[in-house]
Amino acid sequence: MKLVIAFALLFSLLAASSSTAEKFDFFYLVQQWPGSFCDTRQGCCFPDTGKPAAGFGIHGLWPNYAKCRSGQQGLALARAMLGDGGAFLSAATVGRRGKCWPEYCDEGNPLRPWEIRDLVASLDRDWPTLSCKSGRSLEFWSYEWKKHGTCSNLAQHDYFERALALKAEHDLAAVLAGAGIVPSDTDTYALSSVSDAIARGTGFTANLECNRDADGEVQLFQVYQCVDREGKELIDCPLAMRSKCTDQVKLPVF
Ligand code: 5GP
Repeated sequence: MKLVIAFALLFSLLAASSSTAEKFDFFYLVQQWPGSFCDTRQGCCFPDTGKPAAGFGIHGLWPNYAKCRSGQQGLALARAMLGDGGAFLSAATVGRRGKCWPEYCDEGNPLRPWEIRDLVASLDRDWPTLSCKSGRSLEFWSYEWKKHGTCSNLAQHDYFERALALKAEHDLAAVLAGAGIVPSDTDTYALSSVSDAIARGTGFTANLECNRDADGEVQLFQVYQCVDREGKELIDCPLAMRSKCTDQVKLPVF
């Protein structure tokens, strides 16, 4: 009996690691405030298309689990069930699931630029890189596709088109401005007023991430809106995130 259960467990682990449809629970649409990316000690660079507009820019559309999955726990359980016979099981068998999100799901499926050629103008506007690594946003999009998009169960064109469509639904900077939260290098805002403004302005709760400027001041950096598994509709965020935000945050000028 123990052997039967052990093999059933082994097969389910192998099936989980080889199945093509990723079983995540929701997406995060992550948008970054450029002022908060650029005023850190690291600084930023503008892409070869020029200085982006003073609005939120897409960072990525990330498949996420509603509950973190522990690869190590799964591995330990499998080994316990298999006894000596489980010694060959490596972390690679289940390691991809030992996280709160899937990533790098298909290394053999790099971004093919011609698949998204009709979206490039919109992507340049709404998903620009601010990293000093290359200045080419295409590299940023390729990285996001490779790490997150390959786990989305979406074709390349759909993945980028849906991220753009979701962003277009709500202009987060305008939503915040409607609540009196406007970029300023001096003012601070109650974090709760930022969350409330986004919940009221978009109809759904979101998670917030903060970072620190070069002087150590805490500022709103990224907004994580939650999206259904199809990448089509906003939903309330099913779980809170650990956050470096404090009760009062800045929204620096860009
Ligand atoms: P992720 O947070 O998706 O795991 O990683 C983001 C990667 O994209 C990092 O390697 C980062 O250097 C690169 N990158 C390129 N442009 C940007 C940008 O504008 N914002 C952020 N956050 N990362 C960028």
